[in-house]
Amino acid sequence: MSDTNRRLILRERPTGRIDDTTFQLDPQPVPEIGDGEALVRIEYISVDPTNRMWIGEEPTYLPPVAIGEVMRAGGVGRVVASRHPGYPEGALVQGLFGWQDYAVLSDAAGAFVMPEIPGVTTSSFLGVLGMTGLTAYVGMHDIGRPQEGETVVVSAAAGAVGSVAAQIAKIAGARVVGIAGGAEKCAMLVDDLGLDAAVDYKADDWRAQLKAATPDGIDVDFENVGGEIMDAIFGRLNLRARVPLCGLISGYNDGEPQQMRAFGRVLTNRVLIQGFIVLDHFGQAQEVAQILGGWMAEGRLKAQETVVEGFEGLPDAVNMLFDGRNVGKLVVRI
Ligand code: NDP
Repeated sequence: MSDTNRRLILRERPTGRIDDTTFQLDPQPVPEIGDGEALVRIEYISVDPTNRMWIGEEPTYLPPVAIGEVMRAGGVGRVVASRHPGYPEGALVQGLFGWQDYAVLSDAAGAFVMPEIPGVTTSSFLGVLGMTGLTAYVGMHDIGRPQEGETVVVSAAAGAVGSVAAQIAKIAGARVVGIAGGAEKCAMLVDDLGLDAAVDYKADDWRAQLKAATPDGIDVDFENVGGEIMDAIFGRLNLRARVPLCGLISGYNDGEPQQMRAFGRVLTNRVLIQGFIVLDHFGQAQEVAQILGGWMAEGRLKAQETVVEGFEGLPDAVNMLFDGRNVGKLVVRI
């Protein structure tokens, strides 16, 4: 066991993208544990668009990370020393461990012990069997409620949440259209994930592509992106359409307000928009992991992942999400 705990702390709040001045390496000795505590060696760190929101000035659904504080992030790792009966040595645990090698667990830390399942990789607990899968399931199954034959559109469909949400809608029997950047991702959505059509929002004719792919309008918009893409989708929403509002990634770096030309359609077509945050749904986590894990075992749900090697890659990994340099769940192995 190394005697140093590498930590990345917030140095200054970025005004746009994260850059070299945003974080600072602050190595410390590996923490000692006391009674009722356990030490976890972190193996994978989850990289999420919300990481960018957490370092802004404004509180979101959690307070901003303070200057000088270890960057907040989800992670999964193993307990390497324990004086807590709930976190035995060797247990695989998940929690908000931050950008560091080691974290101290206590009753207050809110970490979960993960089951050991043969054939299931450790990083899956950050992806389809973790918060990503839960987000997709709550948004699509519980809020979007796609019915057989309905048309569902998913933005950021080649990403972590989007790729799972789109497949859940396919399993429900809907016609599913994914929106993603570039021909390669669009081909993957149709050829590998079995979606009915894909729209390349980086192509000049993307609005025409969306129209052609949704000849009967749109019944469910699983919204991950916001901005112009959301506005174009809203212009095609059907009577009593549902919009699980999962994310607005197009505005996270610049904080631009959403400008909607087609918002009136929400009124005229009696559309239901429901924002949701996965933290409110932890109570369903185990049940949903069982459902999604079952679909994976049956070959009905494919989990995709992009792994960045090395702790030092963390800051740039957040930017990768905004450049679309990931397919499926983005994690850093440390
Ligand atoms: P993803 O794996 O989807 O990564 C982000 C993807 O978004 C990129 O790969 C990129 O794909 C696309 N993207 C980035 N910027 C833009 C843009 N300006 N316009 C269009 N597409 C863009 O991340 P997640 O699956 O983790 O998150 C997806 C969304 O879900 C985010 O909005 C996030 O905040 C939200 N979320 C919400 C949760 C909740 O509790 N409500 C929980 C988890 C996530 P491409 O190459 O196609 O551009």
